[in-house]
Amino acid sequence: SGRGRAEVFARSLGERNRRKLTLEHELRRALANKQFTLYWQPKVQTEDWYICGAEALLRWNHPTLGQIPPSEFIPVAEAAGLINEIGTWVMKEACRVAAKELPGLTISINASPAQLQRTDFIMHVDAALSLAGLPPDHLEVEITESLFMDASPVALRNLRALHKRGVRVALDDFGTGYSSLAYLRKFPFDTLKIDRAFVTELLSRPDARAIVRTIIDLARTLGMDTVAEG
Ligand code: MN
Repeated sequence: SGRGRAEVFARSLGERNRRKLTLEHELRRALANKQFTLYWQPKVQTEDWYICGAEALLRWNHPTLGQIPPSEFIPVAEAAGLINEIGTWVMKEACRVAAKELPGLTISINASPAQLQRTDFIMHVDAALSLAGLPPDHLEVEITESLFMDASPVALRNLRALHKRGVRVALDDFGTGYSSLAYLRKFPFDTLKIDRAFVTELLSRPDARAIVRTIIDLARTLGMDTVAEG
């Protein structure tokens, strides 16, 4: 495993690889076989406890493998180059359902860095919105900090194009990962999503409370909304 390094093979490694190969193989047919569904995670306004939005979460129900968690299949889809196709389906389906069944709500979708780095990303957004008849400001695209790691000019251009259309942009999982504050100056996000890890410990740990308070203050100063995950 590279110079001066050795790794011992274990049976579990082989099993993990076989599982990945199986998932990749099955993922290629999952879209066509309609095995994906969207679950809706509501967002509640804490001022009046009204539901103001919902996040579309992708779920994969395989006829023989059962429910495969996104934490397992999304990395496989990204590595296999399938994430763009899947992400485009999510966008289209989310907009369609939102316009039909969730009137007035702002819906969020999660976009993979691989999607944002494509020059046809905005075209897919426009198509999804116009096909569904959904106003652009009813859609929010959630991205993670990892998008900025490569500092791709295409991605930044796509974010600006979203902003120009009135589509909202949220920074997901904020507080974990690199949490470089420099990212907050690269693009005018509409929303900061505070990572679930801090939110779940709000009542039990003063350090979590201090971090959340600081994120909220920061977001307010920068004119961004905050969402507490979970
Ligand atoms: Mn999200």
